[in-house]
Amino acid sequence: MEYNSAKIEDFRDIWVFCEQRRGKLMETDFELVSEGRKLADERHSQLVGVLLGYNVKGLANEIGGYGADKVYVIEDPALKDYSSETYADALCQIVMDKKPEVLLIGASTIGRDLAPRCAARLHTGLTADCTHLDIDMNKYLDFLKEASSIDLSTRKFKMEDTNLKMTRPAFGGHMMATITCPRFRPCMSTVRPGVMKKGEYDEVKAKNVLVEDYSVTLKDPLVKVVEIVTEEKKGVDLTGAEIVVAVGAGISKDVEKGMALAQELADVLGNGVVAGSRPAVEAGWLDHELQIGQTGKTVRPKIYVALGISGAIQHKAGMQDSETVIAVNTNPSAPIFEAATYGIAGDLFEVVPKMIASIKAAKAAK
Ligand code: FAD
Repeated sequence: MEYNSAKIEDFRDIWVFCEQRRGKLMETDFELVSEGRKLADERHSQLVGVLLGYNVKGLANEIGGYGADKVYVIEDPALKDYSSETYADALCQIVMDKKPEVLLIGASTIGRDLAPRCAARLHTGLTADCTHLDIDMNKYLDFLKEASSIDLSTRKFKMEDTNLKMTRPAFGGHMMATITCPRFRPCMSTVRPGVMKKGEYDEVKAKNVLVEDYSVTLKDPLVKVVEIVTEEKKGVDLTGAEIVVAVGAGISKDVEKGMALAQELADVLGNGVVAGSRPAVEAGWLDHELQIGQTGKTVRPKIYVALGISGAIQHKAGMQDSETVIAVNTNPSAPIFEAATYGIAGDLFEVVPKMIASIKAAKAAK
């Protein structure tokens, strides 16, 4: 099998590795397929999903429903459960054969294990935890105009550049960096769950997606999965929550009361999830699963309430795409107000009970 990652003219199409666990696709797959659709349209190429597992072919249509033109299905009893060795082996075989130009992988625990292993074997680069992706130069410049302070009139850009432009936080989140992989293919990138927006599901596309079996030859693995023990999920699904009430160090004056107010506000808003900033997690007020930000989760709920959170760049990285942001902070110059749709400069211990009372009154008046 002739494979040379430096012969970039041999590579085409946008691929998404679609992760399934026990026969169920991950939400990140749909987010990445939706993002991949955008990239494939920019590149005028096909969007292809790759699905590995055993008895998983039935999932291919769902991938098509979010925009994939084609899905390669690799089925083998050895791929039933994830194992670094067999999955990397299978994925690299099909990549070396079909030569995709771009390969996107979700930054789940599995994706974080699989992506660098494959990148090394495929002799290409990998940009982890991307927050924005572009191929088309005009689209990328639009993004820079909106999201950066770069004076574009002083820079020269190659408008015909078709490299994947992978943007991610750098230097502890103080800067955003765009990384390209101009000399090798595929351009590989991982994206954290919740970062990209899931598109609309289309029944017709789901029905019409081309599904193709692909067979691989797998070596006897050195490591075998003997048993999978699932940790009982404590708490709630933060990434998919529609209402999030987040607490920060600002509740430290009375943590018990602050947490109770946040929970009550989340409840009256309607099944909201209480989460927090890094200091709130580090202080042990919340489980680490509930941290929002660069080193925590990325959320994009309909309503995000920030109580006593200053709005550091690393926190905003995890919540800035929320539809409506309501911030309560005693400091009127707190950066969180820059990201807020509604800002209330005041003491959360006085403001939140009033918010709860007004919501209850509005509900009662309905
Ligand atoms: P503070 O910055 O201390 O802010 C507390 C706020 O509460 C202040 O604005 C204050 O005015 C207000 N306040 C005080 N009392 C009240 C009151 N009674 N009512 C209303 N407001 C009040 N942070 C994250 O959150 N998530 C991350 O994932 C993350 N990752 C990081 C990664 C790196 C590499 C680094 C360097 C930092 C990271 N941080 C992260 C930390 C981040 O830089 C900030 O330190 C953190 O977000 C601040 O949390 P905070 O807003 O709760 O606390």
